[in-house]
Amino acid sequence: MTWTDIRGHAEIVEQLRHSAKKGRLAGTYLFAGPAGIGKRTFATKLAQSLLCEVNSEAALNPCGHCPACQQVTALSHPDLEVISKPPDKSLLPLELLIGDREHRMQEGLCHRISLKPSRGGRKVAIIDDADYLNQEGANALLKTLEEPPARAVLILITTSAQRQLPTVRSRCQILRFQPLSFDDVVEVLLSREYTASREEAEAWAALGDGSVSQALAWSEAGLREFREQFLNHLADNDLPSYELAKFVSTFVEEAGKEASDRRNRLRHVLTIANAFYRQLCHVTQGLPATGDPVLTGAVTRSMNSGWSRSDKAASCLERCMEAEAQVDANAQPVTIIECWIDEVAQMSLPAQRAPANLSSQKTGPRR
Ligand SMILES: [Zn+2]
Repeated sequence: MTWTDIRGHAEIVEQLRHSAKKGRLAGTYLFAGPAGIGKRTFATKLAQSLLCEVNSEAALNPCGHCPACQQVTALSHPDLEVISKPPDKSLLPLELLIGDREHRMQEGLCHRISLKPSRGGRKVAIIDDADYLNQEGANALLKTLEEPPARAVLILITTSAQRQLPTVRSRCQILRFQPLSFDDVVEVLLSREYTASREEAEAWAALGDGSVSQALAWSEAGLREFREQFLNHLADNDLPSYELAKFVSTFVEEAGKEASDRRNRLRHVLTIANAFYRQLCHVTQGLPATGDPVLTGAVTRSMNSGWSRSDKAASCLERCMEAEAQVDANAQPVTIIECWIDEVAQMSLPAQRAPANLSSQKTGPRR
């Protein structure tokens, strides 16, 4: 296995190779970019490059076959530390970083990375899900970030550098990962055997926004069907807001009893609305709509039925992003849906149907 297994991100590979050649790799990196684009795979590959026993580190090109490379792939290399948020926890537990109460600073990632490397010449640590570091966790990490042990490399993985505290950000070299191209998403879906059908892979990738995990989410037929119906309702304005809210709530509740499952589903719903209003913003500014035929068709119909002002589309888009932030802040899905749909419905009324005093109502466009 070499870097050729990694899809996209070629310029980041080059940047790191350049640093490695000059012996100037950083001690702490923050990998920032949307979920599902291969940041963790990339981090593991970097660890493999640094721990490979055949190829020199300056080449930053793991052989893929030596015992060290294989142990990194199996996440069993003694000089590699990887931690991530357990599925049943809402935060990255402090004990994973600095040990439990009885063993503070004698266990955990910060302690283990400070030990002498046992096999390779380096220790490498990967903190996946750094989005779920709370203040206490981030503070526990600061000393290690400030003065990483000699020849240790610490990699934090986050969906956005802005989600990290400034004290964490300022101590890391930030590498920004971009969404994958459509072709790369298709190739990952096929090579990892999520589907054997290219046609299916292309259909999912078209909705994936450059993310493999997003594309996989759209593999669920029910979600694609909902998307089409929801886009039609948004385009045609054919339901009163309470009925549209009910339509959305029912779909979100069908995700199961777990709050996290419902929130995840609501995130998908908001992604649909977000894409719709984003395209409307483009079109009202004279740009062409992009996306799959279901989305572009909905946008065109909406334009024909009375949308002409870019500020309305921008207000709706802004309100969708606000709702996304509320989901991230763990607000109740039902409450988010009712307020969000009601306000967007008010904002998106065609001009001839808008109440004369719309702008003075509390449900009117913000700003
Ligand atoms: Zn190797």
